[in-house]
Amino acid sequence: MTDRVYQAGETVGVLTTEPLGRSGLGVLDYRAPEGGCGDGDFVEVPLGPRRVLGVVWGKGEGRFDPAKLRSVARVLDAPPMRAELRAFLTRAADYTLTPLPAMLRLATRAPGLADGVATRRVVRLTGQVPNQLTDARFRVVEALRDYGGAAVTAVELAEAAGCGPSVIKGLVKIGVLSEEDAPKDTPYPPLDPSGKVRLVGDQVAAGDALAAAVAQGGYGCTLLKGVTGSGKTEVYLEAVAECLKAGRQALVLLPEIALTADFLARVEARFGARPAEWHSGVTMTERRRLWRMVAIGGASMVVGARSALFLPFQDLGLIVVDEEHDSSYKQEEGVLYNARDMAVLRAAIAGCAVVLASATPSLESWANADAGKYLRLDLGARFGAAEMPKMQAIDMRADPLPGNQWISAKLVAEVNARIPRGEQSLLFLNRRGYAPVTLCRACGQQVGCDDCDARMVEHRFLKRLVCHQCGATKPVPVACPACGVEGRMSAVGPGVERLAEEVALRFPDARVAVLSSDLFGSARALKDQIVAIAQGQADIIIGTQIVAKGHNFPLLTLVGVIDADLGLQGSDLRAAERTFQLMRQVAGRAGRAEIKGVAFLQTHQPEHPVIRAILGGEEEAFWAAEAAERRAAGVPPYGRMAGIILSGPDVAQVFDFAGEMARRDGPLRAIGAQVFGPAPAPVARVRGRHRVRLLIKAEKSAPLQAALSAWVAQFKLPTNLRLAIDIDPQSFM
Ligand SMILES: [Zn+2]
Ligand SMILES: [Zn+2]
Repeated sequence: MTDRVYQAGETVGVLTTEPLGRSGLGVLDYRAPEGGCGDGDFVEVPLGPRRVLGVVWGKGEGRFDPAKLRSVARVLDAPPMRAELRAFLTRAADYTLTPLPAMLRLATRAPGLADGVATRRVVRLTGQVPNQLTDARFRVVEALRDYGGAAVTAVELAEAAGCGPSVIKGLVKIGVLSEEDAPKDTPYPPLDPSGKVRLVGDQVAAGDALAAAVAQGGYGCTLLKGVTGSGKTEVYLEAVAECLKAGRQALVLLPEIALTADFLARVEARFGARPAEWHSGVTMTERRRLWRMVAIGGASMVVGARSALFLPFQDLGLIVVDEEHDSSYKQEEGVLYNARDMAVLRAAIAGCAVVLASATPSLESWANADAGKYLRLDLGARFGAAEMPKMQAIDMRADPLPGNQWISAKLVAEVNARIPRGEQSLLFLNRRGYAPVTLCRACGQQVGCDDCDARMVEHRFLKRLVCHQCGATKPVPVACPACGVEGRMSAVGPGVERLAEEVALRFPDARVAVLSSDLFGSARALKDQIVAIAQGQADIIIGTQIVAKGHNFPLLTLVGVIDADLGLQGSDLRAAERTFQLMRQVAGRAGRAEIKGVAFLQTHQPEHPVIRAILGGEEEAFWAAEAAERRAAGVPPYGRMAGIILSGPDVAQVFDFAGEMARRDGPLRAIGAQVFGPAPAPVARVRGRHRVRLLIKAEKSAPLQAALSAWVAQFKLPTNLRLAIDIDPQSFM
């Protein structure tokens, strides 16, 4: 597809970011402006009384009299969107059944797109920092250091430091900060791929294979499977090096911002400079710079969250999806897409290599490798250390604990043995807060959210009950909201905060650190805590699933899983897979340096096949068994699914409408698909809206999207109802 150029007055189609009806494609006809325009140009067009952002999307449809068409207001001073990205947005919209304007919004999340190149005032450290600084001033200096030389305006800095603008002014006055004009956007420092890294064992062959795949050019997908600590980052950085040598751009997706600090340091060590960063913690100024630089080749490597997939790369040569199994790659609000799958799609369109890396791949990727669609590379031995730690079950039925204790005698003894040796223990519980249930001992009523169908979780740290669905909070009631009896409300079950209480009682002299995402005000505070732990400033670490994600604790030799059965409950199709992955990831935290680690799983069902597979370490056998079960049931990845969630204020109305949809299922039946439901969604009420779910199941080869479109088009949605289509649903929420 070659980009066309249009003379002034010619009819062009412009895709805007405005939602123009459900069926509308969002592409409107305009006349090319004075001086003409070309495919992919960013433009401003009149829409009613307003001017909106758009992209020239091809020749106009010509359905209207050209004389009556309005003209493109102006062509923006921004690099045009390439055909590759336009094709990707179109295909991604088709796949996820998302209107194109919503897709375009994902690709235009850069502030100041409409502004030309200009300068702006930025603040910098002068190098003079007095010993005595007020708290606020100290925070400003720390925040600025955090940016590591990136350009920051006074407003952004004040926001990052949580202070008013006067604090910044004060620091300028006393000479700690200086203000200067800087060009808005400058290229990122070049990365040097020539340095050689010494790979060992099967890293060598894997690194060579990845580099060869990149050097060859064209699309190809590789599943890089390496146990925790096997050096898989070093191996895929070989692919990045090859990509940089070819003068092309590399994108590395990470599931979590908290992980990036460690990763950036490794990249800097390998390539001599930091890559560009794209995630929610990056300032608007920096985002704008990155967006422009990536489009003109001023950024050769980007590390980012899932939304980095929609950046306007000039010449994409490689995409790496690290921790590809991570459920946070699935965007669950707004445009529902799985960044892993979309990465493969973009690589296919761009004609570049894609690497999916994980210690515990998703069954989808395992199956694709098994079917020969992906190349699979395995890294067995742990880099510079032993293999996976020894894993053992502690049968909790054998030795029941009192109602307010969760740590078995065996685990207590193991922790106690390690403290004097200076070794660390991790107690893992995947539950935030203090207690999952607050119950009235007089009437048995549980405190629920007023707007959702969810129990409120006590967070003692916040001194509130919190709804994990909608975020609503309220104080812990003194009197029961149901029966009015006072003083009988009690906490039931453990969260990490409560586990910390038990630890303080049982190990009074130990130094304890709690790692839970909600206990830290900022990504920086969490990062600091992780560094402190890695340096040995804790004997016992209590953590939720954020500890499972690749942090490096060299002194950690014991992992105790408080409730290994937790993930096995519930009807989620992926419950077994998720538990298996999480338990292996957590266990993989132990014994990463020279000392061998051990992991204990506290369980009430040691004979459960998933628990047995985890303990046995028979990974391939587990995947094969799980694959066979899914194949027999015709569910993903061997069949296709879509979730339809209807929501509205009136439960009867929502059910009636969903029932009507289920009855008129002709277009779905025509492709052999089945409709299940309507049923209350697992979370049946969120923010006061009742949610009803239909589940569609089809064979893998069935044209599901086309049938869904035809089916949904039959219905006119009442204005107070909302309908969301989730292709390949992950969470079944
Ligand atoms: Zn009560
Ligand atoms: Zn709620």
